[in-house]
Amino acid sequence: TAASLGHSVIPIVNKLQDIFAQLGSQSTIELPQVAVVGSQSSGKSSVLEALVGRDFLPRGSDICTRRPLVLQLLQTKRNPDGTDEEWGEFLHLPGKRFYDFNQIRWEIQAETEREAGGNKGVSDKQIRLKIFSPNVLDITLVDLPGITKVPVGDQPSDIEARIRTMIMSYIKLPSCLILAVTPANSDLANSDALQIAGNADPDGYRTIGVITKLDIMDRGTDARNFLLGKVIPLRLGYVGIVNRNQEDIMMNRSIKDALVAEEKFFRSRPVYSDLADRCGVPQLAKKLNQILVQHIKKLLPGLKSRISAGLVSVAKEHASYGEITESKAGMGALLLNILSKYCEAFSSMIEGKNEEMSTT
Ligand code: GDP
Ligand code: MG
Repeated sequence: TAASLGHSVIPIVNKLQDIFAQLGSQSTIELPQVAVVGSQSSGKSSVLEALVGRDFLPRGSDICTRRPLVLQLLQTKRNPDGTDEEWGEFLHLPGKRFYDFNQIRWEIQAETEREAGGNKGVSDKQIRLKIFSPNVLDITLVDLPGITKVPVGDQPSDIEARIRTMIMSYIKLPSCLILAVTPANSDLANSDALQIAGNADPDGYRTIGVITKLDIMDRGTDARNFLLGKVIPLRLGYVGIVNRNQEDIMMNRSIKDALVAEEKFFRSRPVYSDLADRCGVPQLAKKLNQILVQHIKKLLPGLKSRISAGLVSVAKEHASYGEITESKAGMGALLLNILSKYCEAFSSMIEGKNEEMSTT
C-alpha cells in the first residue's frame, strides 16, 4: 500500500544495496531499528501493523503484548510472474514458513503464553519473527509491552519498574528510532510515552510523537495544540492517527478499509484540515522514510570513501600487470569506477530529494 513504511526508500536502498554488495559484506547499509513505546492499550501494536500494512499482531483492550517482539522485515525478490509471496518465520520454529498471517498472530499468542503464562504475565525474553516480502524494506521493528501501573494477574508488584527497564534497554540505543505513542483520549500532557522517550533521547533527535485514537476524544476537544507541538515540543514533531477500534478488530476489518476510514475522518474534520502533513498513517510512513533517507545520507560519505580506497588499490594492481587490460584487475577497476559514479549520482539524488522535502 502507499502507506507502508519504505514506499519511497525501498528503491534507493535496493540500488545502493546492490552496488555495495559488490564491495563485500561489510559495506551494506544498516538501517536503524524502530521501537514503539507507550502505556498499555495506547495503540502501539496497531501503529506498527499499519506501518507494515499487514494484519498479524495481537491487539486488544487488555494487555496483549507481553514479550518484546523483534520483527525483522526482509525484502525478497518478486516472482518472475509478478506475483508476491509473503511469509513469516519464527526463530523458535526454524524452517517453518507461515503464509497465513492469522496463524502468525496465533503463534505469537501461543509463544507468549509458553514463556509468560496465560495470566497477564510479562517476560523480557524476545520473540523473534522475520517477515519476508517484496514489499518491505530491510528494517527491524520492535513491539514492546506497554507501561502499566497496577499489577494484575500473575504480574509482580514491581511490574511498572520491570517494564520500564525492559523498554529502556531497547530505546536507549542511539541507533533506535522511537515512536512515542499517546492516546488522544488520555491526559496528553502526562504522556508515559513522551516521558520515557525523553529519558532515552533527551534532545529528541530520534523520537517521533504519535497521537492515536483521535476519533474517540471528548466532544468539543481536539489534538490541534498537541500536533502543533504547543503542549510538549518535539524536534521531529507529531503525527495524529486513527486506527481500528476493538469492534473493527472483531469484525476483521482490513487495514485497507481502515486507511480509507482514517482518510475520511481527517477530511471531515475542519480542525485538522490545515494540519494534513501531521495526520494519518501515510504521513507517519512518510516521516519515517524521510528520517531513513537522512540516515542513508549520513552513511554515504563513508561508503564512498570505501569505494575510492578499493579503486586505488585495484588501479595499483592493474598498473603492476602492465599492458594486459583484459585481466581480472582491469575489470575490477572498471567496475569500481562505475560504482563510484553511481554512488555520486545517488548522493546528489538524495540531496535533491531533501531540497524538495524542505520546500514542502
Ligand atoms: P497496545 O497495547 O498499545 O499495543 O495497543 P493495541 O494496538 O493493542 O490497541 C489497544 C486497543 O485500542 C485495541 O482495542 C484497538 O482496537 C484500540 N485502538 C487502537 N488505536 C485506536 C484508534 O486510533 N482509535 C480507536 N477508536 N481505537 C483504537
Ligand atoms: Mg501491543
